[in-house]
Amino acid sequence: MDDVLIIGGGIVGSLSALELADRGRRVTLLDVPRRHPPASWAGGGILSPLYHWRYPEPMNRLTLDGPRRYRELVRRLAGNGLDPSDLCESGLWVEADGAEAERGLAWARAHDQRCLAAPLSAHLPDGRAGQGLWFPEIGNIRNPRMLKALHAGLRERGVTRIEARATAVWPGERGGEVRLDNGERRRASTLLISAGAWSPDLLDALGVTVPLFPAKGEMLLYRLAPGQVPSTILTEQGYLIPRADGAVLAGSTLRKGDASTSPTAEGRRTLETMAAGILPMLAARRPDHHWAGVRPGSARDWPWLGEVPGTRGVFAAVGHHRNGLVSAPASAELLAQLMCGESPLLDPADYAFEPSSASSS
Ligand SMILES: Cc1cc2nc3c(=O)[nH]c(=O)nc-3n(C[C@H](O)[C@H](O)[C@H](O)COP(=O)(O)OP(=O)(O)OC[C@H]3O[C@@H](n4cnc5c(N)ncnc54)[C@H](O)[C@@H]3O)c2cc1C
Repeated sequence: MDDVLIIGGGIVGSLSALELADRGRRVTLLDVPRRHPPASWAGGGILSPLYHWRYPEPMNRLTLDGPRRYRELVRRLAGNGLDPSDLCESGLWVEADGAEAERGLAWARAHDQRCLAAPLSAHLPDGRAGQGLWFPEIGNIRNPRMLKALHAGLRERGVTRIEARATAVWPGERGGEVRLDNGERRRASTLLISAGAWSPDLLDALGVTVPLFPAKGEMLLYRLAPGQVPSTILTEQGYLIPRADGAVLAGSTLRKGDASTSPTAEGRRTLETMAAGILPMLAARRPDHHWAGVRPGSARDWPWLGEVPGTRGVFAAVGHHRNGLVSAPASAELLAQLMCGESPLLDPADYAFEPSSASSS
């Protein structure tokens, strides 16, 4: 019998494992990254939702202190292969003019975020013309490195990681039972379903219906001289994300309902055009890498986090969609607090599964 069994080792499941292990819980993590590559590896790592003033308060509460939480994680995982420069404190420039810029400034004032009106030329000297807002405290995390360090940190804390797929889940009197594709069955007193875009099949078996869908996204990587793109740049068409070593990511496409992870010629053309539209010199460059991932898409703008109604000790964390990297640290903390009977820092009602959206089976 496991103490805690987590299905899915993307950023949400892995950070939940870290929170629980640091609270003294014995954690086992199931993951199938070769069969279902995590969105957490494929994503860009911007530590802010895209146009954050367009999001509702429950999402703001998960994301606002994302940059601070990642600074803390870099310290917590020091020694597990994460370099401080993997957290790129580049600042974020967001394209916005007129009434849109006013909305952004008002949001920043209301949420105590440092923000200044600034032209793109102030933050991307070789970029095209544009007006926008500058958020100096928001940068990006090199998410593949973060995930690798996190898995090393979990090993060090005694978390058992098993490469096997959960094919079915049954709730028990406390926790539940999981069938694996290697023929094994495992019981645990606490279960967490955090299988990203592949969660709906497992939730269906528990009678939970939430509006989730796969949402494919493609990305390009260009290798430039370090500092050539000094800031993270967000426009309505897409974004550029600089890493400390000069790599610049251009993203991203969005195809709702598509669960494939193969990059396409059409996706590449779209991203090349978008990237050169922001930084004209990229028109003469060939991207060095091109990949795709599947976001855990959701019809609402913030995730579901909490106990599955009709069960005792079966939890789920689903629907992080486009913002799972920035919101995962707060999501994981809330989940661990609920699982360990602590007073939660956020109101769990904002993230709870509606009783009407679930029935025990
Ligand atoms: C192109 C792109 C750009 C993005 N950019 C950003 C960004 O800049 N900022 C941001 O905050 N977010 C971004 N995101 C979104 C973010 O990556 C996701 O919201 C987040 O990674 C979701 O994390 P997760 O742990 O829920 O799911 P995942 O990372 O997908 O992890 C799910 C894990 O579950 C495993 N799994 C699945 N089924 C099973 C099963 N049955 N049994 C066992 N294991 C299973 C999979 O192998 C996988 O490892 C981006 C996403 C994409 C695709």
